[in-house]
Amino acid sequence: MRIILFGPPGAGKGTQAKLLEDRLDVPQLSTGDMFRSAIKNKTPLGVKVNSILASGQLVSDETVVNLVGESINQAIYQKGYILDGFPRTVPQAEAFDQLLMEKDQKIDAFIILEVPDEELISRISSRGEGREDDTPDKIKVRLDVYKDETAPVKDYYEDKGICHAVDGVGTVEDIFARIMEKLPPVHKY
Ligand code: ADP
Repeated sequence: MRIILFGPPGAGKGTQAKLLEDRLDVPQLSTGDMFRSAIKNKTPLGVKVNSILASGQLVSDETVVNLVGESINQAIYQKGYILDGFPRTVPQAEAFDQLLMEKDQKIDAFIILEVPDEELISRISSRGEGREDDTPDKIKVRLDVYKDETAPVKDYYEDKGICHAVDGVGTVEDIFARIMEKLPPVHKY
């Protein structure tokens, strides 16, 4: 089961990805988490992307695609994954398609979490994770980047007929139930 969780910063992708991970028994693959962990551990990748994450801008497509390409070859991702934070640009989506085609794999569902801007801003401002990019000016940058570069990814998947919009406002449990309803039935239990 391969799922893409899509939506703006603060939409709750990480929270829902963790719930899906437990329910479906396939691991979450979060590019943001991978970058933050690389930064924390001061790996060469971390050193390279540190200032980019702090600024709220996007890491280069090449860097992200290489990272995801290497990751999905790992044993733990062979039964599937819940992608959170990738693909974030149309070129990333195209490159990812190419990678999947080479492996003769496909994405089962593309879930878009829809949350109004005011709610996103208030959630991120109050989540208190101490992220350097959670300040008001960086939140604005991230929302702008989302609208300009990431939102078009939705149209890309719309054409494939696997897109499902989910209302991302409500309790964590309600939103999770809405997502489960959209997944292919064979994977529910
Ligand atoms: P959020 O969705 O809350 O903004 P993420 O954890 O998904 O947070 O991403 C944090 C940051 O990591 C992004 O602002 C960006 O700098 C970088 N990043 C994560 N995924 C990608 C990606 N697919 N392409 C480019 N940059 C990325």
